[in-house]
Amino acid sequence: MAGQLCVHGHFYQPPREDPWLGCILPEGTAAPAMDWNSRILRESYAPLAFARRLDAQGRITDIVNCYEWISFNFGPTLLSWLERGAPRVYARLLEADRRSQERWGHGNAMAQVYHHAILPLASARDRMLEIAWALDDFESRFGRRAEGMWLSEAAVDTPTLESMSAQGVRFTILSPHQVQAIAGEDGTWQPVSGDEVDLSRPYSVDLPSERPMAVFFYNGPLSQAVAFEGLLKDGERFWNRLTGVGSEGLLSIGTDGETYGHHFPFGEMALAYVLEQARAGRQGWSLTNYAAYLADNPPKQRVRLKEPSSWSCSHGVERWRADCGCRDGGHPQWNQKWRAPLRQGLEAVKQKVDEHFDALGKELFLVPEEALRAYGTFLSGKSDSKVFQNSYMKSGLSRENIQKSWKLLEMQRFGLAMFASCAWFFDDVSRVEPRNALTYCMRAMECCRASGGPDLESVLCDELKKIYPNEPRYPDGMALYEEEVVARRQTTARLTCLALVRLRSNAEMPPPGGEAEVRWPGVHITVARSLAGTLESGTVEGTALLRMCHGGLVAGGAVRCGWRWEQGRKDDGLCGQMYFQLDNGTEETIRPESLHWKMRQSALQEAVELAASEDWEALWRHAEQAKFFLEYRPHQSVPQHQAFWAAQWPALALAVIRQPCFEDRKDLWNFIRSIGEGHPAKPWLEQRLGRSLRDMLCEGTVQSAELAEIIRRSRAAGLEVDLWGLQNRFWHDAELWSDAALGKALGIAPGARG
Ligand SMILES: [Zn+2]
Repeated sequence: MAGQLCVHGHFYQPPREDPWLGCILPEGTAAPAMDWNSRILRESYAPLAFARRLDAQGRITDIVNCYEWISFNFGPTLLSWLERGAPRVYARLLEADRRSQERWGHGNAMAQVYHHAILPLASARDRMLEIAWALDDFESRFGRRAEGMWLSEAAVDTPTLESMSAQGVRFTILSPHQVQAIAGEDGTWQPVSGDEVDLSRPYSVDLPSERPMAVFFYNGPLSQAVAFEGLLKDGERFWNRLTGVGSEGLLSIGTDGETYGHHFPFGEMALAYVLEQARAGRQGWSLTNYAAYLADNPPKQRVRLKEPSSWSCSHGVERWRADCGCRDGGHPQWNQKWRAPLRQGLEAVKQKVDEHFDALGKELFLVPEEALRAYGTFLSGKSDSKVFQNSYMKSGLSRENIQKSWKLLEMQRFGLAMFASCAWFFDDVSRVEPRNALTYCMRAMECCRASGGPDLESVLCDELKKIYPNEPRYPDGMALYEEEVVARRQTTARLTCLALVRLRSNAEMPPPGGEAEVRWPGVHITVARSLAGTLESGTVEGTALLRMCHGGLVAGGAVRCGWRWEQGRKDDGLCGQMYFQLDNGTEETIRPESLHWKMRQSALQEAVELAASEDWEALWRHAEQAKFFLEYRPHQSVPQHQAFWAAQWPALALAVIRQPCFEDRKDLWNFIRSIGEGHPAKPWLEQRLGRSLRDMLCEGTVQSAELAEIIRRSRAAGLEVDLWGLQNRFWHDAELWSDAALGKALGIAPGARG
């Protein structure tokens, strides 16, 4: 019997939500995408959910949900973002787990440590919470308890495995280099190196509690080859390399999800090819997932692990606390001495935060530890705020104390988020990951103060002073903190300022005496305008009511402030100054231009999207102008008003694509094709038109026969319309299958559907 193949994909994005707004702020380095989650979604997550199989003519023969055939883990933070930002891809993940369960009796999805912390470095309680919250989140999404858990960076030790097994996790996946010894049949321990481990079977780890825990090891050399040897360029080569090992039992491949698509364009197609071969039973191979394999093949041998150890640091877990020499390799002359004080600073704050939680928690919660453990159930949406409050808070608490209780829990949530492993992984502390960790720390410290705890900033700063970033623009860690972290701190005034800029740029400013609400997942702001002032005079004023949301779910106590906006030039939404009168009697002045770039960009984001969609509508209308494009006279080779018509290129192109009446206008078509070549708006038009056509198809505002014609004319006009969404829609809408013309226009192979 030949082997069973299991490809595991580890899909992860660090938590990067702004800890006040609860949403991801724009990241300039991800351009043209707004942020890295969106960028990797487009390059990897979505292509894997809808991977194309093509025939020799490049026509689609199948659209494969790869997640249905591989083992995978997405973290809670990434899943919650996908649920909101990419519901179609999110639905494919849930469907993949459900179908694999039906097929193999066990689902493909594995849980992942909640904030991707390095668990051997966490305190016992934090370790338990990171696992417990992750399992709750998993259950609420996939509708079942997780059987396996992916450890951040495969960082492992006995306390970590104990905590996992105590919470019902049955297995994990590690690198073969984490093996220290294997027990022989007579029970004696044989030291083995990673290369000597038989990777085709699971092993059991002896835990002091004697609870069961199985470990799979992925095939190191093959997994490396996928990542670094370009196997994904050619599906057949990928298949031959995988199956060339000729193993019996399990062939386990551990890969980073971003390898497919982001690192190797079209890597998902090579994976889909390999999955298809195994599905067809080529050379006797078949597919499985870890839980299914474990059920049929319980461990027969015991393994002893190197402790602590991980898959990306040969020194154990030093990479996340010391200058051990492991790094991304981009800057050989840089050092990572900053890692130790960064960890010490955050740990010192966490210790104080924990002390505050335990001291105050005794007064507010029935059992503080249980409340904290159950906060994960609340965050996962499994229990609502009233139920949570009744179950875990003492009865008869004052309103203020109820608010304090929620703040304590939020303090812990941000205190855990700051330990996401990526803060230490790369070459310098000036990168965005450590800055995010410090921003979460700042938010945890704020919740600590707001619930009557001590001011912990000096505790953090004592360690930051010992940091010397490699990036020369920051003389020390304090400069970095002030410039990149404190600048992101939100206050009542700043949040209100942001809300006002957003209302103004979206043209949603309420009329005098009116109200408008601005909502982010983390905060809701009601802006009220007084009767005084007018937009025309450049001065408007009113009041604002802010409510922070616990865990992005329940609005907490309200904070009120008064505001007056004196706009420098009335036609410029960002100009001028804002004056705030705060609840505590103080006043604050803010120039909108002085807000952090990310915040200004986020406030304008909707306005830009709105304008873009208005422009698109206008473009359809401008398409009418094409009828004024007169036919050429003899000896005429360019149109009169050539510059004007060149500037109208997108509208002209849309006109001929949409309207059959221009079919015979050769001069117009030639002009469009020649101007379109290399036109800077061409990629945008191709992408936007594809999206628009998909929407029209979904809404039923275009008939399939007409759509096929539009696509044909687009090609004739020299446009490569982005057909991705249309193809997906066609593939999954049985009513469309009978339309051979549309299938052909979309590049679907005859007979592939219907
Ligand atoms: Zn190392």
